[in-house]
Amino acid sequence: MTPCRDARGHLFFMSFYFAITIRIGNFAMIKCHDMGLLEGKVALITGGSRGIGKAVALKFASEGADIAFTCRNVGDSVQALVDELQGMGVKAKAYASDAASFDEAHKVVADVKETFGHIDILVNNAGITKDGLMMRMDESQWDSVIDTNLKSAYNFIHACTPVMARQRCGSIISMSSVVGVAGNAGQCNYAASKAGLIGLTKSIAKEMGSRGIRANCIAPGFIQTDMTSALPEKMRDEVAASVSLRRLGQPEEVAGVALFLASDMSSYVTGQVVSCCGGMN
Ligand code: NAP
Repeated sequence: MTPCRDARGHLFFMSFYFAITIRIGNFAMIKCHDMGLLEGKVALITGGSRGIGKAVALKFASEGADIAFTCRNVGDSVQALVDELQGMGVKAKAYASDAASFDEAHKVVADVKETFGHIDILVNNAGITKDGLMMRMDESQWDSVIDTNLKSAYNFIHACTPVMARQRCGSIISMSSVVGVAGNAGQCNYAASKAGLIGLTKSIAKEMGSRGIRANCIAPGFIQTDMTSALPEKMRDEVAASVSLRRLGQPEEVAGVALFLASDMSSYVTGQVVSCCGGMN
């Protein structure tokens, strides 16, 4: 082969190579576009029937995850959500279960493992408020908030970590709050439960990091859900005026942060608290 023919052959080979590469590249781009960020993953969400938990379930399903979620009662609206999720092409199942109960949480996790095969993402989202000043806060107000908001996370983390450890992967997300970081008058029980979630998360991140399990908290600010709709309009307006973005947050905006923490996009993020509060002081 003369150098010229050699060069032409090389040129031909190079253009052939680039054509193939561009085609494969385009195909890969189309494939990447089609593939959801959570394709093939199974997510278990506590308190998935309404508000932030429901938005997380819909967001994760839109990215290809199969969804198991809990709430206290499975009625028509919950069944409608299961149908909506299944209509998005993923597996979905709702569990009537009190997240504060150790035994019920373990039963749910065993069934999810059996039904879905694995558990890749746990979202500890179930939560309630029972506000009041400390001097008037009775024991049941304290206990029910701590049990529902904090003990529930222990229950589900305790049940899920053996499954995740065997898989050598998992992402645990717990729904804390800005008041868990800053405190709030009239919410000693709630703030203590949310601060407790942060300590729990940072500790489990250290305990289980070597097994490929990550754990992070989200600290939402004031998000428009049933939980906050009971508050006086004047108070909501004042909160909106006080944050940098001058508005309250939407559940879908918290779900976006949860998606980041659930997906491999955050593969080197663990033991962190991510605020989603519109820029609160
Ligand atoms: P929400 O609209 O009141 O929804 C609460 C969810 O938790 C519902 O699905 C509810 O299920 C479930 N739940 C309550 N108690 C439960 C229990 N014992 N067992 C199982 N499920 C239970 O509240 P949200 O505003 O979406 O709040 C979700 C999470 O974000 C909570 O942990 C909350 O503390 C936190 N958060 C919210 C805000 C905010 O501004 N909204 C701010 C910071 C943090 P049922 O349908 O059975 O009642």
